[in-house]
Amino acid sequence: MREFQRQFASEEACQAYLAACRWPDGFACPRCGHTHGYRLMEHRRWQCVACRYQVSLTAGTILHNTKTPLAVWFWAAYLTVTDKRGISALLLQRQLGLRRYETAWMLLHKLRRAMVNAAREPLHGEVEIDDTWIGGPQPGLRGSRQLKGRKAAIVLVAVEKAMSRVGSGWRWSRTSNRPRWSISSRTMSRGDRRSTPTA
Ligand SMILES: [Zn+2]
Repeated sequence: MREFQRQFASEEACQAYLAACRWPDGFACPRCGHTHGYRLMEHRRWQCVACRYQVSLTAGTILHNTKTPLAVWFWAAYLTVTDKRGISALLLQRQLGLRRYETAWMLLHKLRRAMVNAAREPLHGEVEIDDTWIGGPQPGLRGSRQLKGRKAAIVLVAVEKAMSRVGSGWRWSRTSNRPRWSISSRTMSRGDRRSTPTA
């Protein structure tokens, strides 16, 4: 967690990361194919040296046209994907040290929506599956007895490991132009546990 924060601490580091995702073998102009470009940090773009075509680093992703620093986005994505209980906007605001609650709410909303959209296609790569109960603890019961006759819903969450540790760094995998994180959740009651869940 600390290492993630350290690696994506600055706007520059996040942009370098997005560029590396877009051009794993180095810059290539989509218009003329020239392999030399320079970055325009302020605009989150790269410009081709030959034809001056500008490529946005965030086009096609939820990061596009945002005024929020990329480092904040990256950290928010990390917290949203890894928090098992489902992070709240308020907690996100505190963790990110944001002045405005609205910013935290917007980040969370966009990240969650991206996750839902991504869930429409099958997950691939390294996928983590976990289940959790929603409905809170039952008073007077402990351990597995909590589950007996419980009217809570089980939520099955499959997370494509979008930010997995690779060597000494992190990898934020992508499908074409957008970050490849996905979460799919399906609810079912306890009695239905073995039947096919319906979305
Ligand atoms: Zn070019």
